[in-house]
Amino acid sequence: MVQMYLALMEDVFAREEVLQLKARVKDGGLVVITSHRSPDGDAIGSSLALQHLLQGMGVASKVVMPDAYAKFLHWMPGHSGVVFHDTEPDRANELVSKAEVLFCLDYNAPSRAGGLSEAVEAASARSESLVVMVDHHQEPDSFADVTVSDPTSGSTCELIYRLMGAWGESSLLTSDMAACLYCGLITDTGSFRFASVQPSSHHMAAALLQTGMDHSRIHSLVYDACRLDQVQLTAYALSQKLQVFPKHRSAIISLSQEELQRYNAQKGDTEGLVNRALAIEGINFAAFIKEDVDRVKLSLRSRGTFSVRDVAAAHFNGGGHHNAAGGACEGESLDSVVSRMVELIPSWSNDLQYDD
Ligand code: 5GP
Ligand code: MN
Repeated sequence: MVQMYLALMEDVFAREEVLQLKARVKDGGLVVITSHRSPDGDAIGSSLALQHLLQGMGVASKVVMPDAYAKFLHWMPGHSGVVFHDTEPDRANELVSKAEVLFCLDYNAPSRAGGLSEAVEAASARSESLVVMVDHHQEPDSFADVTVSDPTSGSTCELIYRLMGAWGESSLLTSDMAACLYCGLITDTGSFRFASVQPSSHHMAAALLQTGMDHSRIHSLVYDACRLDQVQLTAYALSQKLQVFPKHRSAIISLSQEELQRYNAQKGDTEGLVNRALAIEGINFAAFIKEDVDRVKLSLRSRGTFSVRDVAAAHFNGGGHHNAAGGACEGESLDSVVSRMVELIPSWSNDLQYDD
């Protein structure tokens, strides 16, 4: 709350340390850009956009991700140069440990960086490396030397766009950088639907369009590139695995490893499924609970006043935003996590009785 108030009161970019950062990245030292585990469109979009911006400034950088992202994001300009910790752990760790400037985008605690967590923590403890966090989630950990946090922003891509402006480098916006920024903007705002959208989000979209970037093609690449298996998995999940609790205005979908494998599920195949449950009339809270190889992962969504961030933080080792959050349970079975959710839902019933 305090953080949000501060963000509204001051421009988080109009600070000496943010302006000095420009000189520091131009110093010639290694610049590395990282994001969170299971990177989404905003994570990879903001990372590659920053890389394009730095390139325009004559600064080479490396993008290092904890693990792979969905195929529908592979079209992004710069994708082929990304280093992944899950497939090249030594190279990824070495890059992070040698970085003179380490950007942490779209996450606000080292633990969110998956396999890169330890390397990020070590960088934060090392005086020679400057750790810079740019993020829009609430309550950041204090691990960075420069913390740019604005929870009122709908996406980290909007923050990278503002950083470009604060550095006086708006003329460096290319159609490649715009495509990366646009991808993060649409995926994190539900294509301009969520409450987090501000007039500035649309101003930014207008500026991106002016570069000649093909917004219609980007929408198709992100949203209309489903495999048949994926569509049938969605159909199965909605017809067989959706539990609706109308009295409590809640809905759950869960999928086991066996079910995911039956439909040859790949990374990203279940993205957006939770929104289908939330789209049911009268539903204010939806959960998608998925059995991963090493943990049970939750995607939580709400409409209106009910905070899924609080739910994720209190019961499922997670966090996120007020209306979109997630969590993960290690060492607990899928059935147990689903049962806990089914037991918890009636206790929130009073808080879920509203029409948004
Ligand atoms: P999604 O459901 O799309 O994976 O995530 C929704 C939001 O919750 C995103 O902003 C994401 O960063 C956040 N989130 C997802 N999983 C976790 C988690 O395990 N821990 C925390 N702190 N945030 C998460
Ligand atoms: Mn984001």
